Amino acid sequence: MKLTIHRGTHEIGGNCIEIATQKSRIILDVGTPLFNEDREPHDTTALRRGSSEELRNIGILPRVPGLFDDAEPRPDAILLSHAHEDHTGLLRHSQAGIPVYASVGTSKMMLAGSMFAGQPHLPQNRHREIQSGQTTEIGDFRVTAFSVDHSIYGAQAFLIEAEGKTILYSGDLRMHGRKPGMHESLIEAVKNRNIDLLLMEGTHISHNNYRGQNEYELEDEIVNHIQSAPGLMLASFSPQHVDRLVGFFRASKKTNRIFVADAYTAFVMHLIASETSIPRPECSEHVKVFFPRFLEEKIQRKGQEKHFSFMVPAKVGLTEIRSNPSKYVMIFRPSMLDSDFGGTFSEDTRCIYSRWRGYLDRPDWQPVKVALDEANGKLIESHTSGHIFYDDIVDFIGQINAKTVVPIHTFEPDKFAEFSPNLRILTDGETLVVS
Ligand SMILES: [Zn+2]
Repeated sequence: MKLTIHRGTHEIGGNCIEIATQKSRIILDVGTPLFNEDREPHDTTALRRGSSEELRNIGILPRVPGLFDDAEPRPDAILLSHAHEDHTGLLRHSQAGIPVYASVGTSKMMLAGSMFAGQPHLPQNRHREIQSGQTTEIGDFRVTAFSVDHSIYGAQAFLIEAEGKTILYSGDLRMHGRKPGMHESLIEAVKNRNIDLLLMEGTHISHNNYRGQNEYELEDEIVNHIQSAPGLMLASFSPQHVDRLVGFFRASKKTNRIFVADAYTAFVMHLIASETSIPRPECSEHVKVFFPRFLEEKIQRKGQEKHFSFMVPAKVGLTEIRSNPSKYVMIFRPSMLDSDFGGTFSEDTRCIYSRWRGYLDRPDWQPVKVALDEANGKLIESHTSGHIFYDDIVDFIGQINAKTVVPIHTFEPDKFAEFSPNLRILTDGETLVVS
């Protein structure tokens, strides 16, 4: 069995991995890179629009025979570890005949992301469900998926067996989420399997002195922030990060406030209600739904009223929210400042920002900070990472006990050498024969 990492050996994001036997080939993730060579963030909107030719010319589309071009033979399958764009963003450039294996959770997050946030679409005729704990045969490969905890619903790690060798691909994961049972059962299932190669994410490998909160501690902190807020509490986080959504919903309930989902968040809640502890928005007295103006206009323009009709009974308007601000915790995004709030917030409005810090430096957040200041309010950062902390990487690698560890999704693969003697650092495009 041979492993080639086409992208991701020396950067965070843009994962694209190929595993090949004599007769079969599979691709793990087809991600858009997040950063350029100078580690400055890419303009994701521009990359979403680029043609295959343009993206090939600027080195964004890796050269993998038969994946993004019409060379034969094509890879047998694409497997998506989760629905973040740095793992799925290049899907639309892949050959339409290649089946795409992903969890139902990932397909749901991609459906919501493509409808509301311009994210990649997973065509239903290409999707093959891969259930956690089950083994699927793809060509020469036996692939077993495991649910992992990450900052998006439906994430999986993959155990890949062929030609007598075994590779474990971590995908993106963490050990400080709401469901520690996930990594415990993954470790339990594979630790006596003599893993030949562990392909391990290392987003936080350079932060060896840093350990953030777990999701439960974060929920307590959010409760405190809401409890001490005199007026309207806004909340900014990704609705696809269902653990965080659960945290905000529970924190709202504990503080006797109504959780106001926007239509995107309400749609995600509807999709996953049967699998999680959060209610369908239209069936709960603790949830209301707000339709931002741009969405309302888009729905009318496209005649999509029927897709959203189920949310209508739970609808709430800004007049009601502004009349009783301390009754609500409301999902917020910067575009709403002008189009819905008319450029100003009411007195004492606060906003909990629960995302990666880097987005706060973007232009769209600057007027929000000013408007909060002018309202005698504040922006409160309350967040924890979706990626595994340094100490947990050490622990995870120790327990998996693979013959070889190959870092991925990291800017500093060399740092794994601090604790991992059996390290093999690849460069993009280099092929390793798994032995
Ligand atoms: Zn991710």
